[in-house]
Amino acid sequence: MLENINIHSAPRRLCGNCLPEIPFGLKDLNQELEQRKARCLYRARRISDGPQQPEMVVDGRAVVSFCSNDYLGLANHPDVKAAFIRGIRQYGAGSGAAHLINGHSRAHHALEEELADFSGYPRALLFSSGYMANIGLAQALVGKGDTVLEDRLNHASLLDGGLLSGARLMRYQHNRAKDLEQKLASRTQGERLVMTDGVFSMDGDIAELPALAQSCERNDAWLMVDDAHAIGVLGEQGRGTLEYHGVLTDDVPIYMATLGKALGTAGAFIAGSEALIETLIQRARSYIYTTASPPAVAEATRASLALVKTQPQLRARLTANIRYFRRCCEQAGIALSDSQTAIQPIIIGDSAETVALSERLLARNILISAIRPPTVPEGTARLRITLSAGHQQAHIDKLVAELSNLK
Ligand SMILES: *Cc1c(COP(=O)(O)O)cnc(C)c1O
Repeated sequence: MLENINIHSAPRRLCGNCLPEIPFGLKDLNQELEQRKARCLYRARRISDGPQQPEMVVDGRAVVSFCSNDYLGLANHPDVKAAFIRGIRQYGAGSGAAHLINGHSRAHHALEEELADFSGYPRALLFSSGYMANIGLAQALVGKGDTVLEDRLNHASLLDGGLLSGARLMRYQHNRAKDLEQKLASRTQGERLVMTDGVFSMDGDIAELPALAQSCERNDAWLMVDDAHAIGVLGEQGRGTLEYHGVLTDDVPIYMATLGKALGTAGAFIAGSEALIETLIQRARSYIYTTASPPAVAEATRASLALVKTQPQLRARLTANIRYFRRCCEQAGIALSDSQTAIQPIIIGDSAETVALSERLLARNILISAIRPPTVPEGTARLRITLSAGHQQAHIDKLVAELSNLK
């Protein structure tokens, strides 16, 4: 459990990506920052003006953005904004307290019921962010003597959740149910919790849920799927990875998804059985000890969920954009990985080179961020292109033309 874990004893690097950093002495801060700069790993924010959408003003420059997670263009949708404003009129600005004190509004409750219905589970529980949902889940369900098994390329929040839970953390080869099964077989004591991205956030490939679910079933382990990049976009009705694969909710007892990507607002939820949700309410510290998100955010999310259900043309437009981008790249001789989702990385390898390419694109008014270690494994720095239903063909034409000019 959380009380027992000492972050200083966490291994510095299990593998290249995504592990929390070790605190160092204050006097070393500048040296550490300089080293980061020298290795092209220094990170800085850009300041945007105006709403999240394909055409943005960033650091004063008009750009076409290809790095947003707003896959359906809902972050600036009139219906969602109107619901947000109505929510503020009805509930005010802030929730005022944690869910278990008196911050749990009718808006939060209605959204939980609608999310449970949409994802096909008996219950759902809102969290203020996906990061907090993943931290809270692992900590509530497992501890010392238990095992968390994670895909090597899982999102940092899943890895942090596993580490902070105090359970033993094991990582299996990317999307390899066989390797997972061997590792499960080697750990028969205690609870076993398997966590995977539904769509892998830096590569865009889709988890092999049927095989993973079978391995978990055979070994009596819990399977948890993080559908941050799949909810709203994958599957005929946008219900995510389970719908995409035709996997039943019974085979994935714990489902998590975020609301700040395709749904365009903020927050996250975990869905599952009555007993799972009641357990999280009792035990998940990142649920209990934090202020509930503003009720108006829940009202806005209810509006975006309604759009996801009633406007399949948004998904159709995203799919058409993904196909169009891939076809144009093929014609231009630009090598892509085989992702079929909105996440289309171009792997460069070297961090300095990736940063230089990103800067050259920015000079041509194309915004694509350079993703570097530790977010991705050493030697796999990349330009991570993301597409949205909001992009027009002319945006994609410009992107492909500028990518061609880089060669
Ligand atoms: C973005 C993301 C999260 C974190 O969600 P937030 O709501 O942004 O905190 C968790 N898991 C995955 C796979 C993500 O891509």
